[in-house]
Amino acid sequence: MSEQQGLKIDEAWASNKPFNFFGPCSAESPDQLRDTAKGIWEQLGSAFIFRAGVWKPRTRPNSFEGAGIAALPWLKEVKDEFGFKISTEVANAQHVEHCLKNEVDVLWIGARTTVSPFAVQEIAEALKGANVSVFVKNPIHADLSLWMGALERINKAGITKLGAIHRGFHMLDSAPYRNLPIWKLAMELKQTFDNLPIVCDASHISGKPTLIPHVVQKSLDLNMDGLMIETHCQPQLALSDAKQQITPKELFDLLTHVEVRQSTTNNQEFVSKMEELRTMIDAIDDKALDLVARRMNLVQEIGNYKKDNKVTIFQVERWRKVLERSTAKGHDLGLSQEFIKSLFDAVHHESIRQQNSVMNPDLKRHKEV
Ligand code: PEP
Ligand code: MN
Repeated sequence: MSEQQGLKIDEAWASNKPFNFFGPCSAESPDQLRDTAKGIWEQLGSAFIFRAGVWKPRTRPNSFEGAGIAALPWLKEVKDEFGFKISTEVANAQHVEHCLKNEVDVLWIGARTTVSPFAVQEIAEALKGANVSVFVKNPIHADLSLWMGALERINKAGITKLGAIHRGFHMLDSAPYRNLPIWKLAMELKQTFDNLPIVCDASHISGKPTLIPHVVQKSLDLNMDGLMIETHCQPQLALSDAKQQITPKELFDLLTHVEVRQSTTNNQEFVSKMEELRTMIDAIDDKALDLVARRMNLVQEIGNYKKDNKVTIFQVERWRKVLERSTAKGHDLGLSQEFIKSLFDAVHHESIRQQNSVMNPDLKRHKEV
């Protein structure tokens, strides 16, 4: 068991990756569920987690809201027949209780639930003492602390078979995606909670089958710990998310065409070449840090001059020139304008902070953005 910033994850369980969730958006009928389960089983066997939404959180009423508890025995039947683990979404304490009674192995908390600490806490209370795995989807909007908070609440209830699902974020403009993937946030979560498995929900990110392979490849290249891909025996007839589901055969083709790369290899030549290149990178990073520190010393010196001469810290003209100069130089060196802008924004932010503490030593302790 490892404890990272308050999260206790069952390491033996977490090492069982990949955590792949395949199955329809919703459980619609016993036949649809069984046909889909059989279709995937024929293509892939039973080493995956079968997913099907039983209670569907729909944005507007009058669309299919799931078959409800009636669908839980259908799930249990395919579990018994095909031998895979089964999973569904829970949004309140009753859902959890029904799932535990019907031997659902893996529960996930949906994006619309993760946003509500009250709802997550209610689910956490209902999970106390249960031996299930729980995956928490990111909240609808890009708020990392809400995602972390939900994971912490579930973990505090004693659930150590715990993972996260990156399903993308709702943005004003998410094109070409349905929900914009923010890989940086998922990586930040991984860095904070070392052993936490993070699954990529390629279907809800993509919103259409054509984008799924690209999203899957990207998540594999980032060494994510599994995939969620909505799979339906007849996608065009699906009662929810018909536009993004694929058939079991399409799922098989997709999985055989993506490139699975290892996070490392035993090839000795590769290992020593990597070591050589990484040593060079480390040496460059050291030099770059020395130079940044020297830059900051000059910034402080300028701060003192400004203070003596009662000149303001920020001069927009000077900053514009620094940015123009660096962007042009960066361009000649093959560095993108976007990268130069974010690099120099960080440098500039720190320079202002440093001059501010030179000029106002008493305000030093105030945290500002
Ligand atoms: C789902 O997985 O079926 C679902 C509703 O997902 P999300 O919570 O990501 O919208
Ligand atoms: Mn769906």
